[in-house]
Amino acid sequence: IKENEEPEKMPPPSAFRGRRKSVAPQELNKGNKRLSCVVKPSEMQTKKGKFLEASRPNQKFYEMIQDFRETLEITPISATDQIEPCRICVCVRKRPLNNKEINRKEIDVVSVPGKGALLVHEPKQKVDLTKYLDNQIFHFDYSFDETTTNDLVYKFTAKPLVQSIFDGCMATCFAYGQTGSGKTHTMGGDFTGRQQNSAKGIYALSAQDVFVCLNHRKYSNLDLSVYVSFFEIYNGKVYDLLNKKAKLRVLEDDRQQVQVVGLEEVYVTTPEEVIKMIQAGSACRTSGQTSVNANSSRSHAVLQIVLRRNDRATTLHGKFSLVDLAGNERGTDVSSNDRSTLVETAEINRSLLALKECIRSLGKNSDHIPFRMSTLTKVLRDSFIGEKSRTCMIAMVSPGMASCEYTMNTLRYADRVKELNGNSKVGG
Ligand code: ADP
Ligand code: MG
Repeated sequence: IKENEEPEKMPPPSAFRGRRKSVAPQELNKGNKRLSCVVKPSEMQTKKGKFLEASRPNQKFYEMIQDFRETLEITPISATDQIEPCRICVCVRKRPLNNKEINRKEIDVVSVPGKGALLVHEPKQKVDLTKYLDNQIFHFDYSFDETTTNDLVYKFTAKPLVQSIFDGCMATCFAYGQTGSGKTHTMGGDFTGRQQNSAKGIYALSAQDVFVCLNHRKYSNLDLSVYVSFFEIYNGKVYDLLNKKAKLRVLEDDRQQVQVVGLEEVYVTTPEEVIKMIQAGSACRTSGQTSVNANSSRSHAVLQIVLRRNDRATTLHGKFSLVDLAGNERGTDVSSNDRSTLVETAEINRSLLALKECIRSLGKNSDHIPFRMSTLTKVLRDSFIGEKSRTCMIAMVSPGMASCEYTMNTLRYADRVKELNGNSKVGG
């Protein structure tokens, strides 16, 4: 960025409408995708006084963001908004600042104006030390702000997928993002202190609706039964969370059918049973890991709700896979020279890359799905092929300035997943 460049004027809020992406620095002056506003240090001090300046590490940026927010037209998503069914849906959810961040007086650099838009106010400094905001806007199918409940997120993301498996679809819902951004909160349920309320996560909400649909007139003549499996993928290996973390093999037969050999698939008749399994499985996921570094952020957890016909062969009718992915910050963490950490990092990197490529192939209706790239995509192979595939990715972001770089990585990834799918709407 040139040193004596004139700051751009702030555009009217209407400039945020329509799908737009972040742009490269050289495109800074083409249109208003990236919106810089500069406040000279001296101006700030006369405006708000020196006293406040000292009270917060990034007071100037804080004020610039507040000023910017005043110009935004906010229309938060609401339960009455239209839900558009689509084959590939990509959403973003911002969590609130946590107590630790609030105590550190960390500033919130993410705004959610609504209608699928999300803004990152990236604090930057010019060579002459002038502070400015690099405001970048992203557009997704839905954007959820920090006040949104799991119930509402569920309504727009997983709920339409539950219905789809009764119509014979293979559906997947992914929670993607950096560790601590809210993946497990969204999928597994919200926490009150250390206790997780499993009944309030997308896993449980989906299970509840599966039984609602099962008893619905429209589907009762299908004569279906519900089965559940729950496993973890760590370092490319599959561990059964419903069977004492038994290590399982993934095999592919000559018809390219992928099987996880020996995976427990438990027949269930009530949502309460499923919730109990989620609790037991989640506890199994973290227990037995005593090392400081070992935690669930390094593995993918997959809950599968399977519909089978009550015929002799218990034919597969539909399947919903709900995936709490490994933290994506691992991919950029190259600070460690511990071999096992490097192997782990490479594996997570590969699986998240493979996942992106598989969803993109699905979006392009490509014949070639690169599912063999990772164990994650191998076991989810069914979900990436054909007309009956449905995918929803919820990208989670942390609001704090300290997480800004990870947040940008997450948003770029989510943007790439969706890139080619402008016209992949179905039904309706
Ligand atoms: P991840 O699984 O991505 O590592 P968690 O789901 O464990 O992150 O979330 C980290 C912390 O932030 C948890 O204490 C969780 O309760 C809290 N949290 C995450 N998302 C929200 C939210 N939307 N509202 C309130 N608290 C949240
Ligand atoms: Mg987690």
